[in-house]
Amino acid sequence: MARIIVVGAGIGGVPAAYELRAKLGPEHPITVVSAQAYFQFVPSNPWVAVGKRVRKEIVVELQPHLEKKGIGFVAQSVSVIHADRNEIGLADGSVLPYDYLVIATGPRLAFEEVPGSGPIDGFTHSICTVDHAEKAFAAYENFLQNPGPVIVGAMPGASCFGPAYEFAFILDADLRRRKIRNKVPITYVTSEPYVGHLGLGGVGDSKSMLESEFRNHDIKWINNAKTSRVEAGRLFTTELDAHGNVVREHEVPFSFAMMLPAFKGVDAVAGVEGLCNPRGFVLIDEYQRSKKYRNIFSAGVCVAIPPVEVTPVPTGAPKTGYMIETMVTAIVENIAADIEGRQGEAKGTWNAICLADMGDTGAAFVALPQLPPRNVNWFRKGKWVHLAKIAFEKYFLHKVRAGSSEPIYEKYILKALGIFRLEEK
Ligand code: FAD
Repeated sequence: MARIIVVGAGIGGVPAAYELRAKLGPEHPITVVSAQAYFQFVPSNPWVAVGKRVRKEIVVELQPHLEKKGIGFVAQSVSVIHADRNEIGLADGSVLPYDYLVIATGPRLAFEEVPGSGPIDGFTHSICTVDHAEKAFAAYENFLQNPGPVIVGAMPGASCFGPAYEFAFILDADLRRRKIRNKVPITYVTSEPYVGHLGLGGVGDSKSMLESEFRNHDIKWINNAKTSRVEAGRLFTTELDAHGNVVREHEVPFSFAMMLPAFKGVDAVAGVEGLCNPRGFVLIDEYQRSKKYRNIFSAGVCVAIPPVEVTPVPTGAPKTGYMIETMVTAIVENIAADIEGRQGEAKGTWNAICLADMGDTGAAFVALPQLPPRNVNWFRKGKWVHLAKIAFEKYFLHKVRAGSSEPIYEKYILKALGIFRLEEK
C-alpha cells in the first residue's frame, strides 16, 4: 500500500487525483488536501470581473465528486511539510503521513513586491482568484457610474501575461457594448519588453498582431515598465529601454486598474529545506520529481521553470494548461512505476498553448517547444477562439464534476488545432 497526498485542488491537483485514482488500485489511498473546499476554473475569472460569469458557474464543491471516485478530501491549508519524515501539518494542527506527495499549490500572489498594489490593502484589482474577480466586478460596477481612465497590465516579475491581454480586450468589448468606451482611455502597462512577448519571447507574429489589435481598439501601452508603487488613482512606473536605461518616468492616472502580480511559491512549500528555488518554486527533474526528496512530485504553476530570456524588467515564463496536463500525466506514470519497483521515465512538456478570449473574438497561440527556435510557432486570431474557450471551460468543469481522468489537450484541443504531438517527445 502507498499513501498518496495531493496538495492543491486547482487545474493541476484535481486532474492529478483523478488520473492517479484511474491508474492505481484501490489498495493505494489517495487524499486531496486543499485550502478551499472548491475547485475554481481560474481561466474564467476575467469573465467574472466584468459580470459575464458568476461564481457558481465556475466553481465546483469538491467533496462529493472526489468521494464518488474513492478519493479522500481534506479542505484545509497545509501549513508545513516535514519532507524528512514524510508528513504534512495542517492549519488545525493535525498531521497526515504520506508515501508520495504531489505538490500542486499554484502561486502565491506577491502583491507585497509593489507597494499599494493588490485588492486586499492596495489600489489595483486582480483576476487571479474568483474572490479577487468578484471584488474587481463590484469595483467595476461602481466605475461604470463614473467612468475614467483604466490601467490593465502586469507587474515586474510577472509570468502570466495572457490573462492581462484577455482582460484588456474583454473590458474594451464590454465598454463598447455599453457605449461608454469613448469616456475610458485604456493603457496597458507591462513588464514585458514588447507587446506580444507573453513571457515567451513572442510567439509567431504575436508582437505585430497584438500591437495592431491594441491600435485598432484604442489601447495605448507602456512596455519595459518597472512599476514601483501605486497610490489611490495613480500608478508610478519607470519605462526602460532594451539596455535597462531609464527612458521615462510615468505617473499614470486611473479610475480602475487590474495589474497581475508576480508569482512566488506558497509559504508551506517554499519553507521546505532544499525543495525550492529562492522564489519558492519547486525544483524538479525532467520526471516532475523533486531533486532532493524522491517521493515528492510537483505540477502546475508551483514548479520552477527558468525564464525564456533575460528581459530589462524581470519577467517569467508562463505555465499554462497543456503544460500542466502533461506534467500531471507524467507524475501519475512515474508514481505508478515507482510503486511497481520500475524506473519512472515519463516526462511532461514545457510547451505553451493558450486560448485567450478578446471579448467578441479571441487569439490562440501554440509554442512548441517553449524555448525558441521552435518546431511550432503559431499565433491566430478569430471568433472561433472565443467559442473554443467557452467549450474548454464547459468541458473542464464537466471533467471535474464527473471525475474524468481524460487529458483534454491531448484528446481534443491539439487535434482541434491540427497539431498531433508535433513536439520533440
Ligand atoms: P491553481 O489553479 O492556482 O491551484 C492551486 C491550488 O492549491 C488551489 O486549490 C489552492 O487552494 C491550493 N493551495 C494553495 N496553497 C495551499 C496550501 N498551503 N495548502 C493547501 N492547498 C493550497 N492557462 C491556460 O492554459 N489557459 C487559460 O486560459 C489560462 N487563463 C488564466 C487566467 C488567469 C486569471 C490566471 C491567473 C492564469 C491562467 N492560466 C491559464 C494559467 C494556469 O492555467 C492557471 O494559473 C491554473 O489555475 C494553474 O493551475 P495550478 O493547479 O497550478 O494552480
